Amino acid sequence: MSLGEFDLIAKYFTRTVKRAALGVGDDCALFAAAPGMQLAVSSDMLVEGRHFLPTVPAQRLGHKALAVNLSDLAACGARPVAFTLALALPRVDETLLAGFARGLLALADAHECELIGGDTTLGPFNICITVFGEVPHGQALLRSGAQAGDDLYVSGTLGDARLALEAFRGHIVLDGAAFESTRRAMEQPQPRVALGIALRGVATSAIDVSDGLLGDLEHVLRRSNVGAEVRVDALPRSAALRGVSLAWQRECTLAGGDDYELVFTAPPGRAAQVIEAARSAHVEVTRIGSVSAALGLHLLDCDGQALANSFGSFDHFKT
Ligand code: ADP
Ligand code: MG
Repeated sequence: MSLGEFDLIAKYFTRTVKRAALGVGDDCALFAAAPGMQLAVSSDMLVEGRHFLPTVPAQRLGHKALAVNLSDLAACGARPVAFTLALALPRVDETLLAGFARGLLALADAHECELIGGDTTLGPFNICITVFGEVPHGQALLRSGAQAGDDLYVSGTLGDARLALEAFRGHIVLDGAAFESTRRAMEQPQPRVALGIALRGVATSAIDVSDGLLGDLEHVLRRSNVGAEVRVDALPRSAALRGVSLAWQRECTLAGGDDYELVFTAPPGRAAQVIEAARSAHVEVTRIGSVSAALGLHLLDCDGQALANSFGSFDHFKT
């Protein structure tokens, strides 16, 4: 006999809480921000067929559902504290639930982020998480702080998730190792939480790359009322991505999406602090261009020649 709603919540999603005053089981969870801290709050929804393929292993899906939310905290320089989980399930599939909970809670534990509540219902497979983080008052990294003259940086590598998606779609053929590594990037992204925290007081602006570098960078430029120059062929890429055509490399790095790396700006005088932040967070950081007073986004190739920006970015209502 399959589990009922409350048995399911009790079995997979009820854990003792340390940081929160009250977790799963009552009408509300209770917790307070530490003195001097602001709460950073973000929600991200994952819908089957739009945000993940039915082929994704359940454990990786659990990981990703929380990872994309933690990535938003990272982009604000906030430290994860707690999250809620709203789940719509088409049926009670305990194999799926066990794997999902394992992946989800392993990442939660790694970031000391407590599951404090949620909602569970029957419906088309849909996962919505809301995360709560903490950041010292006034120190959140915002999209609006980029200054003309700042350097522009990105963490990790870009484009692998899109490359894997194209391989799943049959548009690109990858060898076994390249397929596995890019598939992992797509299904199990690593939120750059430690880097975001280390960049407080160093970066002037930050955003996480969820919809493609160019589209997300545009948000920063608009909010900051500045422009930027990006050296397209300087963008950090994995060995797998370097193995495909230059056209695909550019498409995947510039317009790929699902990267969950941080793009951020910092004045040249803080370059050493940026390097130290990256070192302390154990993440590679690459300088990819600079911020200009002149508005607009200018792409340069390896010879410094202007490259037409014909790259899109992801918009659920336009694609
Ligand atoms: P109510 O009907 O009062 O909204 P629910 O019956 O939906 O409460 O939920 C009971 C308890 O279980 C609440 O504390 C809620 O936060 C928690 N809960 C429900 N679904 C989940 C879930 N998927 N993960 C974690 N906690 C959940
Ligand atoms: Mg409810």
